[in-house]
Amino acid sequence: MVKKEWRFDTLAVHGSEGIDPHTGAVSPPIYQSSTFAFRDSAHGEALFKGEASGYIYSRLGNPTEDCLEREMAFLEGGEAALAFSSGLSAEAALVMTLCSSGDNFVTSITVYGGTYALWKSFMPRMGIEPRDVRATHLDAIEAAIDDKTRLIFVETPANPNLDIIDIRGCADIAKRHNIPLAVDNTFATSALQRPLEHGADVVVHSATKYISGHGDTVAGILVGTREFMDRVRKETLNHVGFCISPFNAWLLLRGLKTLPVRVRRHCKNAMRVAQYLSFHPKVKKVYYPGLRIHPGHEIARSQMSDFGGMVAFEIKGTREDGKKLMDSMELCVLAVSLGDCDTLICHPASTTHSTYTAEQLAEAGISETMIRISVGVEDPRDICNDLGQALKRIG
Ligand SMILES: *Cc1c(COP(=O)(O)O)cnc(C)c1O
Repeated sequence: MVKKEWRFDTLAVHGSEGIDPHTGAVSPPIYQSSTFAFRDSAHGEALFKGEASGYIYSRLGNPTEDCLEREMAFLEGGEAALAFSSGLSAEAALVMTLCSSGDNFVTSITVYGGTYALWKSFMPRMGIEPRDVRATHLDAIEAAIDDKTRLIFVETPANPNLDIIDIRGCADIAKRHNIPLAVDNTFATSALQRPLEHGADVVVHSATKYISGHGDTVAGILVGTREFMDRVRKETLNHVGFCISPFNAWLLLRGLKTLPVRVRRHCKNAMRVAQYLSFHPKVKKVYYPGLRIHPGHEIARSQMSDFGGMVAFEIKGTREDGKKLMDSMELCVLAVSLGDCDTLICHPASTTHSTYTAEQLAEAGISETMIRISVGVEDPRDICNDLGQALKRIG
């Protein structure tokens, strides 16, 4: 049984209540089964009517997935959670549950590139209008709301420029207009930031990133009230089949056990890398909320317990120099995604955010020469040395 007084690091290890009642297995079993037998036909009927609780079919629910959802709800301080096949399917389910054709939602323009493409390319085909604003300006959010607005969606820290959005400020606007606020907590994770405590209604994760932590699966999570999670499951998830596989749910359960330990190391290493780059003569600008010069530093301090593992920077030089820098890396891996044990480096304008036009990049505060690093858990001296030898080769 999970105890009320348990702290975050303990919940991360024990929160899933994964010990198998039948065998005592300490690692939760993977229920790799698509369907579940009814005791008799009356039992089957009762399950379908919702009069009995139990499993029917894995698109509708699975014990390994349940274990993960319980644990994520504990870690975010929410009533319930839902697991999805990817971060984007979690986001799609959120919008598709709240919005119908003719409705709109307000979104930060500075979001994960795939999120932006889902909003701008897909949602309009459903008759749903995304209204993108620079959410660092709270008045821009408020100005975009009308009587057809069904959701406010922000990501903080934001991808890729580490913009910090004031969650409490957004929540106040959302409450005034009686609209739910969803916060994409992928960059910070529940280990550093729990948006529900700051007034958000729904938390979104690409669990592909820090929650998995090892670059071995794609998955997504929503956390919120029991009532709303039941609604998303019944009205959207069950119909469209955005469900997670039992094996992927298990990989996330395994990742969660070390989440607090890994995230502490990511933060420590990222601060080292940010400071190293700040003093490097070939670096023009560093984006890391842990640096006092970052415009969101004070807000980050008030809503996060540390500043995360993501750093972005611009070099003094051209886009070609940027390419040369990336091609000179020996330790840092040239790849999108983030939150892995391995340090990953990418150029957002040509990869993750290539769906943005030049104007949209400018509006979102994403420089064409920005380079993003997901700082891994290696020895920070080796990461800095690798950046140093690559920087030497340019300019
Ligand atoms: C990766 C990512 C997503 C999308 O998640 P997938 O698991 O790739 O579908 C959404 N938001 C953020 C902040 C991300 O980094």
